Amino acid sequence: MSTQAVMSTYARTDIVFERGEGSWLIASDGQRFLDFNSGIAVNALGHAHPHLVKALQDQAGKFWHCSNLYRIDGQEKLADRLISFSFADTAFFCNSGAEALECAIKIGRRYHQAGGRPERYRIITAENAFHGRTLATIAAGGQARHLDGFAPVVEAFDRIPFGDLNEARAAITAETAAILVEPVQGEGGLAVASDGYLKGLRAMADEFGLLLIYDEVQCGMGRTGDLFAYEKSGVAPDIMSLAKALGGGFPVGACLATSAAAEHMVPGTHGSTFGGNPLAMAAANAVLDVMTEEGFWARVQQAASRLSHGLESLVETYASVFEGVRGRGLMLGLKCSVPNGDVVDMLINDNMLTVVAGDNVVRLLPPLTVSDDEIDLALSKLGSAAKALAD
Ligand SMILES: *Cc1c(COP(=O)(O)O)cnc(C)c1O
Repeated sequence: MSTQAVMSTYARTDIVFERGEGSWLIASDGQRFLDFNSGIAVNALGHAHPHLVKALQDQAGKFWHCSNLYRIDGQEKLADRLISFSFADTAFFCNSGAEALECAIKIGRRYHQAGGRPERYRIITAENAFHGRTLATIAAGGQARHLDGFAPVVEAFDRIPFGDLNEARAAITAETAAILVEPVQGEGGLAVASDGYLKGLRAMADEFGLLLIYDEVQCGMGRTGDLFAYEKSGVAPDIMSLAKALGGGFPVGACLATSAAAEHMVPGTHGSTFGGNPLAMAAANAVLDVMTEEGFWARVQQAASRLSHGLESLVETYASVFEGVRGRGLMLGLKCSVPNGDVVDMLINDNMLTVVAGDNVVRLLPPLTVSDDEIDLALSKLGSAAKALAD
């Protein structure tokens, strides 16, 4: 095997995993790692969850793929379920988060262009946002390091500071089509949009005839302790992107929308060869089977509170290393005073996986099925890392 054969777009850690069990990944040399990265918020039900394995195996023996020229039973079932749990009336299925955002952006443009307002194409986005790595989504995110070398930039996004309603209002022009925001910023460093901020954006969107788009690719599908992060605020968007945890590890994305927003998304306006194929739909429906079991959310919230209390006390004990706790539910982070990468590396050496986020934060994204013992073990590993870094 050669590391050179794969395009070197990632700074990879030199570990090869062979299999997983719940909250654990087992490397090819037999070492076990406590997985508080979850494939960056993807493996919401941990690794090799029996219900997911069975659902995928059953579908694999029937048929894997058929074209979207035909009805796909699993899509209709998944769309019905996502709609019944959300604000949405309709769903488009794709393969990734960036594709879900591309669909959201296209719906936003088409809503206005086919609705007789062709001048409205610009989208207001937040600083430190992350929406993916396609040409449009790197422009939406606006991070210089993501845009470098990929000019010309898709020139259709206006960035505002996250959380500032006055700046949002000031950014609206006659060309604005929509406002796009992550209810909890993932890559950006786990900033949580307050209920008041989302309410304010909703009111502004209504006042100016704009669409409100939530990117719940990372914070959706249970991460924050509810199926969707926006639920707690009670403030619904017009369009919402989902991906990461949607398939529990199988690549799948979705763009949900109200019927009003998607009114002009008629046959021929959008498509995807693989989007919503039967394997992906079997995986995503199996994820929802588990998440809708009695008591699932109560347990996630209990785990979240155990982890966040533990993190708060680490911040107290190791104030010179950790400045504070960020995030919500099991989408938590520690704002560090030492370089966040040092903490992540120290934890890898102690067989625990985490991931950095912006603003010098270490993200803790355990499977939603994490046990109390695993949370306690993670807290003790974090404590040891902090102790070593404080010395
Ligand atoms: C990961 C992520 C994306 C991009 O998803 P991909 O599947 O990598 O294309 C978009 N938005 C948010 C909020 C994300 O966290």
